[in-house]
Amino acid sequence: MVRTVENILQKKYIAKDDIMMLLALKKAGSEELFKRAHDLKTAMVGRKVFFRGLIEYSNICTKNCFYCGIRMDNGRYQRYTLSDEEVLEAARYASDNNFASIVIQSGEQSSKAFSNSIENLLRKIHSATNSSLHITLSLGEQTEETYKRWYSAGAHRYLLRIEVSNPALYAKLHPADQRHTHLARLASLSLLRKSGFQVGTGVMIGLPFQTMADLADDLCFFRDFDIDMVGMGPYIEHEDTPLWEYRNLIPSAAERVQLSIKMVAILRIIMPDINIAATTAMQTLDPRGREQAIYAGANVIMPNLTPVKYRDNYLLYENKPNVKDEPEETRIALEKHIRAAGDEIGYGEWGDSRHFINRE
Ligand code: SAM
Ligand code: SF4
Repeated sequence: MVRTVENILQKKYIAKDDIMMLLALKKAGSEELFKRAHDLKTAMVGRKVFFRGLIEYSNICTKNCFYCGIRMDNGRYQRYTLSDEEVLEAARYASDNNFASIVIQSGEQSSKAFSNSIENLLRKIHSATNSSLHITLSLGEQTEETYKRWYSAGAHRYLLRIEVSNPALYAKLHPADQRHTHLARLASLSLLRKSGFQVGTGVMIGLPFQTMADLADDLCFFRDFDIDMVGMGPYIEHEDTPLWEYRNLIPSAAERVQLSIKMVAILRIIMPDINIAATTAMQTLDPRGREQAIYAGANVIMPNLTPVKYRDNYLLYENKPNVKDEPEETRIALEKHIRAAGDEIGYGEWGDSRHFINRE
């Protein structure tokens, strides 16, 4: 049988070689893919986009990932940690505006003091907002005990990107030491599942040395791991990182955005009931990037609630957008864009991953 997009999209199980063909589609061919993903999203999770208010808790990091602007060895940024009161203010804003959900993200720290602070903070957030918020954490690799304590203190979702599913590529993007191993990253994902969390992961798209086969493997990895949520987006270069010298090896900004949207669409087709984020990095490279991702299957967006004065110090990559926008401006702009795309915002709804609920 001739391999056409239509034939592939009709298959019950789309294998790696078919995924590679879909990833290679040019603009005209991708329209069919996007439409199919759009229809599946409508049928499986509805035309709703859920807000997760993003709080960038601290830029202190003990790791040195080669792609990340806030890596430990980058001396350009002033290091900060939000006070509990600053976090609570952002959480109250989310609760008062019916976001129903927040994400606390940070550079990776594994001290006892850090895990205690997060545990206390979780309890304070619940008491300040009458447990109206579902809390997602994105705080890197931790011990099983820490994951369990945070879960008991009221966090129910966790985002830990695998970054790339190919261990050899992972090794090229991280220092060769015990703090940066692919195996530990994988083990953490399993621990999170065991600790009861809805588990989210993700990858960067358009990295130096990354191939189409790697990206197809990433999508197969999400399916094989039976993941509940995915946040993935383009890799964006940063001058103060070791990967900067390989910037001539990466696809153009437009190609990275198109590839990212195709990744979202294919994922919606192979895992129709999971939550998929339209990430900030997509918007960084194309002002309409997030809207296109929403059309092609994404149903989660993370408006930034970090106090504006800290944002210049949480620059993972170049040209991060909206660093000066107050939460209210961001909320109004997003609402307008999402409505323009024909979707509505799931105000007041936790928007848990249906995949997780169905599995439970
Ligand atoms: N430290 C935690 C961790 O690594 O899981 C959470 C915070 S970390 C800043 C969140 C994500 O930012 C990483 O998982 C990575 O995928 C993404 N990131 C870092 N540098 C990036 C870059 N240059 N371009 C795109 N995404 C990047
Ligand atoms: Fe630290 Fe996360 Fe950045 Fe790696 S990606 S350097 S762990 S903040």
